[in-house]
Amino acid sequence: MAVVKAGAYGHGLEEIARALATEELAFFGVANVREARQIRHAGVATRIYLLGPTWSAERAEIVARDWTPCISSLDEAREFAGLAAARGARLKVHLAVDTGMGRGGFVADGLPATLAALEQLEWLEIEGVGSHLPSADEDAPFTRRQMARFDAILDELGGAARFRWRHLSNSAGVLGYGNGACNLARPGLMLYGIAPLPAFQHLLRNVMTLKSRVTLLRDLPSGHGVSYGRAFVTQRPTRVATVGIGYGDGYPRQVSGRGAEVWIDGRRFPIIGRVTMDQMMVDVTDCTTIREGDEVELFGAHLPVTEVASQAQTIAWEILTGITPRVMRCYSE
Ligand SMILES: *Cc1c(COP(=O)(O)O)cnc(C)c1O
Repeated sequence: MAVVKAGAYGHGLEEIARALATEELAFFGVANVREARQIRHAGVATRIYLLGPTWSAERAEIVARDWTPCISSLDEAREFAGLAAARGARLKVHLAVDTGMGRGGFVADGLPATLAALEQLEWLEIEGVGSHLPSADEDAPFTRRQMARFDAILDELGGAARFRWRHLSNSAGVLGYGNGACNLARPGLMLYGIAPLPAFQHLLRNVMTLKSRVTLLRDLPSGHGVSYGRAFVTQRPTRVATVGIGYGDGYPRQVSGRGAEVWIDGRRFPIIGRVTMDQMMVDVTDCTTIREGDEVELFGAHLPVTEVASQAQTIAWEILTGITPRVMRCYSE
């Protein structure tokens, strides 16, 4: 299952869906109905799996389009069953099990009875079973116990073979752990070339590069403030490149004053002063070759997005999904 929620992690949902549709995918994983519609709009036939719960008003469309929901409550299941009956076609659904995430699914106690109740609903086909890993990039002992627990749950439910699809792993699960009794995984971040476990980064190739250009080059005297709040004051005569990107594009303002750098013409330069909505300033004093119009890499092939994320005290997922629509997406074959 290719997870393409949140605009394919900021890369562009329709473009990524079309690019991945040529692979042998069981499903595209999306967060909600609107994203499912976008995939349909892209003209892609791969099945669509809804990773999160749905609410009542969305369910008729889900049934009509034959999208695959995961089931976290009997009420939800009964409504889906009623809609499927009205349409006269069985709906394939997956049983969601909460093995530690605390966000959705049935808790493990009483699962055999829950499955029996679901199987009473003849218009539903319990095609799969899934759970989610909360700490696969942070807590290996817990994750190993959770994986063993999921396998034990499958046994308790009558054996793995009872379900066509069994899935637990996100990217960190895929990279750092075995499959256990699962035959499907749900990678997101790693599809875009970023490893949640740094030891595996060499296996992946970065997909998104965020770029802008030098819009202005100026020489400021010593003692001159730079950007809002004058949080940075030049300590020497300083050559300053103004770059045409800011937090309005999704580049995190939180990196201001934390030593973040950009990549211009084959090397790194420090951002000085606060990142503003549309522009930022970079100290290029030591470089005589930079020209207005030069390309600036904010992150990508030369400067890992994980570095920007840690300087912004957040995670790569948030940086990628936060790149705003103002930024033009360019695709190369
Ligand atoms: C977002 C999500 C994933 C993908 O997670 P990554 O860490 O990006 O690989 C997998 N499963 C579920 C349920 C998710 O919500």
